[in-house]
Amino acid sequence: MRVMYRTNRSVLAAVLLASVATAAAQTKITAPKNKYSPSDDVKLGQQASQEIQKELPVMRDEEVNSYLNNIGRRLAGGIPAEFSHPEFRYTFTAVNLREINAFALPGGPMYINRGMIEKAHNEGEVAGVMAHEMVHVALRHGTAQQTAATPYAVGQVAGQILGAIVGGGWGRVISEGSNFGIGTAFLRFSREYEKQADLLGAQIMARAGYDPRDMANVFRTIEKESGPGGPQWLSDHPNPGNRYEYINQEARTLRVAPGNGSNSAQFPNVQAHLRSLSPAPSSEEVARNRKAGRETPTGTSGSRPAGSVARPNTQFTTYNEGNVFRISVPSNWRELGNNNAVTFAPEGAYGTVSGNSVFTHGIEVGVARNENHDLNTATNELLESLRQGNPRLTRPSNYDRGTIGGRQGLRTVLSNVSDATGGQEVIEVYTTQLGDGSLFYALGVAPREEYNTYANVFRNVIRSIQFAR
Ligand SMILES: [Zn+2]
Repeated sequence: MRVMYRTNRSVLAAVLLASVATAAAQTKITAPKNKYSPSDDVKLGQQASQEIQKELPVMRDEEVNSYLNNIGRRLAGGIPAEFSHPEFRYTFTAVNLREINAFALPGGPMYINRGMIEKAHNEGEVAGVMAHEMVHVALRHGTAQQTAATPYAVGQVAGQILGAIVGGGWGRVISEGSNFGIGTAFLRFSREYEKQADLLGAQIMARAGYDPRDMANVFRTIEKESGPGGPQWLSDHPNPGNRYEYINQEARTLRVAPGNGSNSAQFPNVQAHLRSLSPAPSSEEVARNRKAGRETPTGTSGSRPAGSVARPNTQFTTYNEGNVFRISVPSNWRELGNNNAVTFAPEGAYGTVSGNSVFTHGIEVGVARNENHDLNTATNELLESLRQGNPRLTRPSNYDRGTIGGRQGLRTVLSNVSDATGGQEVIEVYTTQLGDGSLFYALGVAPREEYNTYANVFRNVIRSIQFAR
């Protein structure tokens, strides 16, 4: 049985009994008028979700997504019967963006930024934002807002509804995408809907065994932890006023169902897992990269590498990467941002296979956040995570020592079976540590039969690296 009041329980007991006896009942929520049918919500949400899958850097990380699904399913089980629509399907997907943000589409698809999980103090805070979003879906606020606003038919309002829900930084990322013009003219939910999302969200949390006060807390976390430009989430979900106070007030009327509580054992594991990945980019960085005309390897083409690849130019081009490092690569290699890292590869050498970005020739360079200040261990961890996506990658037998950009570095040569061609490939791994302890890495990839040519190129690329800090 969960204990809600841990401190001074005996002293508080009498007071609590008294306040419980006189406390107001939980707020009665009524869904707003809506001229659309729940199946319209489903249709609109699916349409929008398909676009979003193309435009946003969604994470295909099983550990993170299944964790979010566990929280989400638990919350969905707490939706009161009168607001549960049998045709709605709640799904939960992590997005590789740094901001503390999340949104949900009509009918149930929900997207949660990686930054949300990284900055939360406990699972209850993540659940708080998810419960709030879930109420917008369950009460059908997207279509309800359109009911009040316009006489348009369903097809015409799709973009507007999506815009209403996907505001702020999301809108910026999506509108930079080529296929989707929601622009910047998004609406926000009304303060009345926001208050409903908070109050019913608190009730759902309690029914699901989460402490609803964590929802009040997460709004403070969002205010405190949001970077320059202010909290995106709050610009999409305006504070109706006294948010922290009225959620806590509502919490006092609620009995938290027995369950796992807000501090699951899994939460710190998932946070640690995320810290081991390259830092998430901001939505502004992703938008800027889109604008600069970079294509992500998972981008529009979505096809297998074409396979016919030109030899590397002897002329090199220099790139300045986010004020972290400079690197020079053969001038016929393209720069491909993939959110966590940058890949330089020639035409025909990159594409997607079964939804995963792959490249057959070239070099991937990135920075992985790392808590381990021992280069060997950090490199082992990097290779372990690399092996998760490349199960046939060999293990390193030893590391050669050298320097990268004047820093002490390690090098090892591994072999792998290419996802794209099924042939043997060689992977050269270079690592060093930056001043803040994060791990800088470069992965050179070439088919085994062309490795002689590429070994020289990799050596020259690595020699060109200069760090800014
Ligand atoms: Zn909201």
